[in-house]
Amino acid sequence: MTKVTVAKGDGIGPEIMDATLDIIKAAGAKIEIDEIEVGEKVYLSGNTSGIAKESWDIIRRNKVFLKAPITTPQGGGYKSLNVTTRKMLGLFANVRPCQSLYPFVETKHPKMDIVIIRENEEDLYAGIEHRQTDEVVQCLKLISRPGCEKIIRYAFEYAKQYARKKVTCFTKDNIMKQTDGLFHQIFNEIGQEYPEIEQEHWIIDIGAAKMADTPEAFDVIVTLNLYGDVLSDIAAQIAGSVGLAGSANIGTECAMFEAIHGSAPRRAGQNVANPSGLLQGAILMLTHIGQSDIAEKVQNAWLKTLEDGIHTYDIYKEGISTQKVGTHEFAQAVIARLGQKPQKLVPVNYANSKELVLKPYVRKAPAKKDLVGFDLFLHWSGNNANELGAKVEALNTSRVKLNMISNRGIKVYPDGFSETFLTDHWRCRFKADDDQTVTLDELISIMNQFVANGLDIIKTENLYKFDGKLAYSLGQGQ
Ligand code: NAD
Repeated sequence: MTKVTVAKGDGIGPEIMDATLDIIKAAGAKIEIDEIEVGEKVYLSGNTSGIAKESWDIIRRNKVFLKAPITTPQGGGYKSLNVTTRKMLGLFANVRPCQSLYPFVETKHPKMDIVIIRENEEDLYAGIEHRQTDEVVQCLKLISRPGCEKIIRYAFEYAKQYARKKVTCFTKDNIMKQTDGLFHQIFNEIGQEYPEIEQEHWIIDIGAAKMADTPEAFDVIVTLNLYGDVLSDIAAQIAGSVGLAGSANIGTECAMFEAIHGSAPRRAGQNVANPSGLLQGAILMLTHIGQSDIAEKVQNAWLKTLEDGIHTYDIYKEGISTQKVGTHEFAQAVIARLGQKPQKLVPVNYANSKELVLKPYVRKAPAKKDLVGFDLFLHWSGNNANELGAKVEALNTSRVKLNMISNRGIKVYPDGFSETFLTDHWRCRFKADDDQTVTLDELISIMNQFVANGLDIIKTENLYKFDGKLAYSLGQGQ
């Protein structure tokens, strides 16, 4: 028996959760359920995180969490429970299989069978945002080596366990050479440990276009958080319906399983919702807790039900479907087919499926880090880069010299273009001649002069070389 925390959620949540639990219990799932309340009621009771402290205790004790969709109330102040749960519990991998079920579920892509493995904790989702000037706000994109290593290793181990042939990495490292560049570099490094698996990298824009057009060209896809978020919804939709996909959120200690869709409040309480997305989440959970025989039995019965044309309204099509059923009746139809296999769709075999256990992350020896300059960011309402350049050049900055000024990343001084649009957010880059190292005392002395001359510093960044290699981007146009 495995203890599982269950939250029935909001909207259609309770109906699809009941249907899902009925099916997996009828299939013989050895689980004991600990139910908690999360979501709308908890939010509206004044708890802005949507979950009580006692519920966290239960989730952390049981370590396996099956969650129905919840409604996040409109209006400010309510934190997304999904994002909080993923980060608090260290659920670094989001795994979303997207497979078409042609010809039983309509799709333009009959041969699609991909799994998107999305980094779940970092990237722009760190949620570190600041307004810095009248005109400019900022969101920090944080990418870490352990974050990349864990998700990329997970993708390769997943491919290995499920006998998948290829892992594709999607980044935008032609632009973001440090952040996306690190992800790509680590993909190449870890890929070397898996020579039997084909590996490729696509720039996300053209890669996403290719995936939407020819998804059969992909197998396992691994990518950063934001790209994965967008890509995985597209993948689920083009496979047939977002109502059919489930996802697993996997951490070293805990895991959470869910449908990918929301609480569909307009459909709530009518016994019409499709429970398949949550059922897919529950199947991923059964594999994770070592009950892959039950997972296989449920998945094959589900495929057989769809193949028999027993469909909820969202996938019902004259000529393909044989019967339009409600949530409860769909669950009963799956239960009636437990032990059967699909005849036309390919039956699944989960004999080798189990929880993936990854090699632990090992921190590398520190690199040699040299401070070679600094960027001072200013809020300045002037409109002429040469004027700001002259002001800064007039300061006594000794051997540390103004190297350039940029505005939103584009070099505007010296030798800027009059066509470049200027905001009130400026960056002054300082470096010593010949890339000599500089000191923080020199930075402080320059900052003091800025303050004395009425220049409004909003933040600074240090420029480093790590092991002799530049570890910052040049200004665009520099
Ligand atoms: P939604 O996914 O709830 O609904 C989108 C559309 O898909 C609707 O037309 C809906 O009727 C349909 N649909 C969704 N699931 C279905 C199912 N199982 N069967 C049949 N039809 C289904 O997205 P939304 O309307 O943007 O969001 C509604 C609420 O859900 C919001 O409060 C949002 O914050 C929340 N939400 C929660 C989660 C989660 O808990 N994981 C995820 C997304 C959205």
